[in-house]
Amino acid sequence: MSHSETFEFKTEARQILELMVHSVYSNKEIFLRELISNSSDALDKRRYESISQPELAAPSEPEIRIILDPEAKTLTLSDNGIGMSREEVHQFIGTIARSGAREFLKALQEKKEGDGSPDLIGQFGVGFYSAFMVADRVELITRRAGTDEATRWESSGQGEYILGDATLEEAGTTVILHLKEADQEDALQDYTNAWEIRRIVKKYSDFVSYPIRLTDLKAAEEDEAKDDEESDDTDAADEPLNSMKAIWLRNRDEVTDEEYNEFYKHLTRDWNDPLLRVQAKIEGTLEYRILLYIPERMPYDLLYAQQALQHGLHLYIKRIFIMDNCQDLLPPYFRFVRGVVDSEDLPLNISRELLQENRLVQRMNKGIVAKLLQELQHLQEKEPEKYQQFWQHYGAILKEGLAMDADNQAALLDLSLFHTTRSGDEPCSLKDYVGRMQEGQKVIYYLSGESLDSLKASPHLEAFRAKDIEVLLLSDGADEFWTHHADKYQDFEFKSIGRGALNLDEEKKEDEEDSDTENKEDKYKGLFSVFAEILTDQVKEVRPSSRLVDSVACLVVDEADLSPQLEKMMKMMGQQMPPTKRILEINPDHAVTAALLKHFEADPSREAMGLFAETLYGLALLAEGSDVDNPAALSKNIGALLAKALGM
Ligand code: ADP
Repeated sequence: MSHSETFEFKTEARQILELMVHSVYSNKEIFLRELISNSSDALDKRRYESISQPELAAPSEPEIRIILDPEAKTLTLSDNGIGMSREEVHQFIGTIARSGAREFLKALQEKKEGDGSPDLIGQFGVGFYSAFMVADRVELITRRAGTDEATRWESSGQGEYILGDATLEEAGTTVILHLKEADQEDALQDYTNAWEIRRIVKKYSDFVSYPIRLTDLKAAEEDEAKDDEESDDTDAADEPLNSMKAIWLRNRDEVTDEEYNEFYKHLTRDWNDPLLRVQAKIEGTLEYRILLYIPERMPYDLLYAQQALQHGLHLYIKRIFIMDNCQDLLPPYFRFVRGVVDSEDLPLNISRELLQENRLVQRMNKGIVAKLLQELQHLQEKEPEKYQQFWQHYGAILKEGLAMDADNQAALLDLSLFHTTRSGDEPCSLKDYVGRMQEGQKVIYYLSGESLDSLKASPHLEAFRAKDIEVLLLSDGADEFWTHHADKYQDFEFKSIGRGALNLDEEKKEDEEDSDTENKEDKYKGLFSVFAEILTDQVKEVRPSSRLVDSVACLVVDEADLSPQLEKMMKMMGQQMPPTKRILEINPDHAVTAALLKHFEADPSREAMGLFAETLYGLALLAEGSDVDNPAALSKNIGALLAKALGM
């Protein structure tokens, strides 16, 4: 009962295909790398699944075969991997499940169709669809291991694809590319040329751990035509094109950077070179090798899905691939790291579930973290610019470790960079901060908030600016957490300047200052207590401030309370909690405050003071960039005050 149906590609898929069909990307030969990587993954999957389901194992040797037919102008790539069911073909090939796709298209739209596309393709990579850079029609025939039915998919990349029944002797996948005419100008080579294919495979896929073999129908024909002497160099011709050597086992000086980078691209499907490579051979009671990479830019799945599905390392045991996305070998704050770990000690039959509790895995995790921290430190010292680039992409994630990994907190603090009131555009290290500290400064000051811009404009900084004291400006989500956990850098504690009482002069001239504050408190006691009554739903206290210079009011978190950002995050995570009230601090040295006192002395009633109290509270919210509870009311209040000021 054979039937075929025509389907339309989902919008995103169609857009990407269109781009491939009309691609002016010059490096078109990478289509082969993409297809080989897919086959290699499918073979991995079959091997892995057949551990628990032996009936899924391939009856013949796992292999990737390329068949060239110059006459028909086709390149066929076959594997006996896991294959796909009809539903899977629909899902994987007809829709674009890749998380990067949406971002890819967004970036494309921003760049406006056409002109920006070549380098954009390079930035994102879109796997299977890259076949349409070199082919005007692609057929895919596939049969899922463990099933009998095969499915045929076909498309010219023009908006539709056909799905139908097919037959395949063995489970696996065959992709047939009907090649476009070779065209130097369009960077299209003749991909039925065996020599060319050998070169491409060697260049991009040498380390693939399955044999990639070539059948050249033209050569075979010629052989047949000759049909003389010992034409059994067909055997020699069936040698794999790739060396299959696991790249992490080879001597470092034997492997070029390009080869390491190609391996990275094979592993991650990133089309860019990585930012950093970390490799090591660990020997001793535990033996393993690591070959890790940090992508140049944050993988899109990481950026857009908080808990990325596709992260983790590829785990090999004694050179045998066990699984990808193995998350137990890295703590979450290193989730942007990609690569391979090859262990000599783990049992081959280990399952995902058992990995988590395995003591050896935990020790390897520790060892890998130590190595990564060490390499990052090295990068920070030796290549500060590159380190800045690293930090820009991954700093916010790495900082999560400050709260999560007490053992490595000190190392992570050394690696952390911060924007400060003095750092300019590029963030600086705590070492830099401490080096610039004023004599007698005993703590590291920080201010946290939602954005760097609002922090920079915060009234909390005024007294610090006046006294030329540097303050860290923390605007990452992770900052809210680690500041509660990290107590010290070297001998210096961290102190929030938006929290608790603050007396900047206490370090120098304690007594004098205290009595001064007391005087101010006395003077304004009556006024502030009426303010506190009026604002009783909004704030827990009203008091004179020692942090303000130009502004008249600001809001401060009480010593033991949650910051508004943390409160917001906890709410987002579904925690129910009563809103935390903050403290309204008013600048006792401000002209407005002195004038208010006069008004208050003339008429201390709540009615008379209401307008002023509400307005000052609103201004304090505005100054820190927060949302005002009731913008219309605040605006009305300000209007009323203006009218008064203008003598109307
Ligand atoms: P990616 O490989 O990056 O996920 P592709 O567009 O290249 O993106 O492939 C989409 C999906 O199609 C793959 O994730 C895989 O599930 C499936 N697929 C592609 N090629 C094969 C193959 N040769 N054998 C089995 N499944 C495949």
